[in-house]
Amino acid sequence: MASVKLKDVVKKYPGGVIAVSDFNLDIEDKEFIIFVGPSGCGKSTTLRMIAGLEEITEGELYIDGKIMNDVAPKDRDIAMVFQNYALYPHMSVFENMAFGLKLRKTPKNEIKKRVQEAAKILDIEHLLERPIKALSGGQRQRVALGRAIVREPKVFLMDEPLSNLDAKLRVQMRTEISKLHHKLQTTIIYVTHDQTEAMTMGTRIVVMKDGFIQQVDTPTRLYDKPCNVFVAGFIGSPQMNMITGTAEKIDDDLYFKFGTQKVKIPAKKAAKIIDQGFVSDEDVIKPIIMGIRAENVHDEQMYIDMFKDEALLTATVDVVERLGSETFLYMTSEESIIVAKVNPRSTAAVGDTIQIVLDPNRFHFFDKETERTISN
Ligand code: ADP
Repeated sequence: MASVKLKDVVKKYPGGVIAVSDFNLDIEDKEFIIFVGPSGCGKSTTLRMIAGLEEITEGELYIDGKIMNDVAPKDRDIAMVFQNYALYPHMSVFENMAFGLKLRKTPKNEIKKRVQEAAKILDIEHLLERPIKALSGGQRQRVALGRAIVREPKVFLMDEPLSNLDAKLRVQMRTEISKLHHKLQTTIIYVTHDQTEAMTMGTRIVVMKDGFIQQVDTPTRLYDKPCNVFVAGFIGSPQMNMITGTAEKIDDDLYFKFGTQKVKIPAKKAAKIIDQGFVSDEDVIKPIIMGIRAENVHDEQMYIDMFKDEALLTATVDVVERLGSETFLYMTSEESIIVAKVNPRSTAAVGDTIQIVLDPNRFHFFDKETERTISN
């Protein structure tokens, strides 16, 4: 059992920087939790407070129900994997992995057993006698993980552990760490600025900005139901298209209008927009933002036939990116930029003015002023 709970946690650095505010989170045993957000949003600070490497200014930290604020890092039963691995370059892989256990006066045969087990899990048994300086980046990464595994901690803390690897290795290690989580069945708290890493590995993701939690959810729910413009834009690649306009009634229906174009808002979402008072008319203008993901913008005839009565737009193609399995169209419609992820068979070419449709079931709406969701 290793649950972690942060209650009303605040971190103020000397000099007045408030790096983390109002941080409340319950992490259950065996979760793979990811802290994600842009550089400087407070991810590492939060992780370091859990590790005991930074003092908690206000609030409480519990591991397995026990308050940890004043417990020394070595007594918290956690193991941390750092970005730079922090290995001893002249020592062998075995010695590096055994180091922490030796300090704790673990019996020699127990050390040997644990190191060999961890080496087997990580597929580095053949490297145990090699010095660290004779290893590749990916191998060093495994040793750093191995050193954490042999400690058999209740919680693993990982701070951007893949950021020093090249793109291909990073993708490979992502799967390895997911497998490792499955094998070890322990709680992992993992910091990254990379939304793809977060989406592919996390069982739950904590999206942070400016020291505040924005949303805590599963990858799917974050993608489908972002709570605000920031989360909608941060999660997913390419970024969600965002168009500013107004919701206006025409007869019995509600439309989202921008410039001279308009799309019909499905009844359920229309009801939410009406209920929350975001309908504009001649007297009152209430700007809202409509979000639509690139894969929900279509240029294929089949989709045009399906959605032409609700959400047909004209757009000019500015750039075509053909990636093989998919094609991205970067377009302008009125003043707005719209990116579409379309079928590679698309014949759209730069300079064309084409018809596109948006899938109305995939609309997101946000208040322009507070940037909070109106539709999710
Ligand atoms: P992240 O990990 O999301 O990039 P950090 O937790 O490292 O963000 O930093 C959060 C904020 O706290 C930043 O504004 C950063 O400049 C500040 N900060 C981090 N460490 C210190 C420190 N030791 N002293 C003062 N300010 C710090």
